[in-house]
Amino acid sequence: MSQYIFPPAEQASVAVRGTSARYAVSRIFCVGRNYAAHALEMGGNPDREPPFYFSKPASALVPSGSTVPYPPSTKNYHFEMELVVAIGAPVFKVAAADAQAAVWGYAAGLDMTRRDLQAEAKSMGRPWDTAKGFEQSALITELVPVSEIGPLNQGAITLAVNGVEKQRGDLSDQIWNVAEVISNLSHYYHLEPGDLIYTGTPEGVGAVKPGDVITGAIEGLATLSLTIGQPE
Ligand code: MN
Repeated sequence: MSQYIFPPAEQASVAVRGTSARYAVSRIFCVGRNYAAHALEMGGNPDREPPFYFSKPASALVPSGSTVPYPPSTKNYHFEMELVVAIGAPVFKVAAADAQAAVWGYAAGLDMTRRDLQAEAKSMGRPWDTAKGFEQSALITELVPVSEIGPLNQGAITLAVNGVEKQRGDLSDQIWNVAEVISNLSHYYHLEPGDLIYTGTPEGVGAVKPGDVITGAIEGLATLSLTIGQPE
């Protein structure tokens, strides 16, 4: 029997609609640019270049409905409303035509971002970890199994701050759809059950401050909410 010097961290997991069973999470992959209009607002290229990725630790997950303190070392804390895909079967170098079978379910999520740190990292050619992979940076709703709602390739994706709409797009606006993202990512990693993919955000990203309430929706999925607390 294994012994540990310190108790192991709690297993990260996500609630699942209609059951008390939870989806255990091992990795969180994020697509860096997947809606043309958002690529443009970030000063990037809206063309169909191959997707690129960054990661967040599974420990960064926060359930929808939470209050999260305004994070340290930023003055430009941004929301990014995203469709999240949960992998349910192992795939490696899978063709896009076969990739949908690896989807276990979907959730709505927020890729919270320290935009000032990201801009600095971009300009200096440095990694994005402190901008993207920080504590409590991955908000997520309950998962809905694909067996209940079918493939999600279209439908409105929206976000509001204090009731004022900031982001509106459609999943069909994705530069790379879910199957294409899974196919591409599976050429870099052996994807496994427990892997989440945040699939990118539409245009309209912006900053929040303590006291703000973010709400978001994707057709067919649970409504998302996050309250920004005072800094620690
Ligand atoms: Mn994002």
